[in-house]
Amino acid sequence: NRAWHLLSRPVGWPEPQDFALVESPMPKPREGQVLVRNEYLSVDPYMRGRMSAAKSYVAPYELDKPLQGGAVGEVVVSRAEGISPGDHVLHFAGWREYAAVDAAQAVRVDPQAAPLSTYLGVLGMTGLTAYAGLLRTASFKEGDIVFVSGAAGAVGSQVGQIARLKGAARVIGSAGSDEKVALLVDEYGFDAAFNYKNGPVAEQLRAAAPDGIDVYFDNVGGDHLEAAIGSLNRDGRIAVCGAISVYNNTEPAPGPRNMARLIQTRGRIEGFLVGDHYDLQPQFVQEVGPWVRSGELKYRETVVEGVENTLEAFLGVLRGDNTGKMIVEL
Ligand code: NDP
Repeated sequence: NRAWHLLSRPVGWPEPQDFALVESPMPKPREGQVLVRNEYLSVDPYMRGRMSAAKSYVAPYELDKPLQGGAVGEVVVSRAEGISPGDHVLHFAGWREYAAVDAAQAVRVDPQAAPLSTYLGVLGMTGLTAYAGLLRTASFKEGDIVFVSGAAGAVGSQVGQIARLKGAARVIGSAGSDEKVALLVDEYGFDAAFNYKNGPVAEQLRAAAPDGIDVYFDNVGGDHLEAAIGSLNRDGRIAVCGAISVYNNTEPAPGPRNMARLIQTRGRIEGFLVGDHYDLQPQFVQEVGPWVRSGELKYRETVVEGVENTLEAFLGVLRGDNTGKMIVEL
């Protein structure tokens, strides 16, 4: 049974020597627990924050202990009522092969209803993030012009498609390669997209959104946020979901220089955390599930094989190696 441990807290970009894949004894489930053989592990940008000691909305990872994260696996031993060997569960003891998990912290998932990996992505945490952030935080309404950054990623690709399916006037996305940009337009039905590495974001956004934007769903922060404020229309809304462009900074990044535009636009910027919006989960599954099944909402996964490659997969998310949700398959 192998598990990834954090040995030291990364400063700047995480380095392989900050981590170790440790061979440990098979965990023994206590009363009320199940032993799970993990099949799919999630690696997510927010994990970078938990590797630092800074206080945040989730506790920092402990040193010399297994890292944690979303995972889906098969129950091999059950000491809990209502869960049997052979059942599949979603839980948070990822980054390892086997885990003893409190049944109360495990959610049963149905491999017949949807591929298991989708419970970590398009029908899971990142999907709900897109749904809640767009509809609730950004108060999306039909006819809005929507801009989303990180648009070929797990959250962003779903934001753009939900906006399109719910009647956006125009959907614009940005991503970090020409291949990703082509995918947004050709497969996901975005009206326009640009590669933020090809030129200043503000200029590229103005060209892609000549009539301005009503909603900006921010996954990256930095230049993108300033550009979005610059293109924001009257009563525009900005949902701050993530700021991946600054997660490895060692100094605080400068803020947008054009905040005063929020006065003339009566604009609103609001951060949100998916954890506060699980009341929307049933509505999300009811509305988005059928779009995924019918293919109206498309999704990609980048699948990395083997527990030994979990760290590389995580670093790959920070670099942009992934298209859609990054998943580790064991
Ligand atoms: P993604 O699947 O979008 O993967 C991250 C992507 O970020 C990469 O693929 C890369 O794509 C892009 N990226 C990396 N560096 C930069 C940079 N400097 N500038 C612009 N883009 C960059 O991850 P998720 O969909 O899981 O998460 C997206 C965002 O949402 C993250 O910021 C994450 O922290 C946040 N989040 C917030 C939640 C909340 O509750 N608020 C919940 C879940 C996620 P590219 O090739 O395009 O550069």
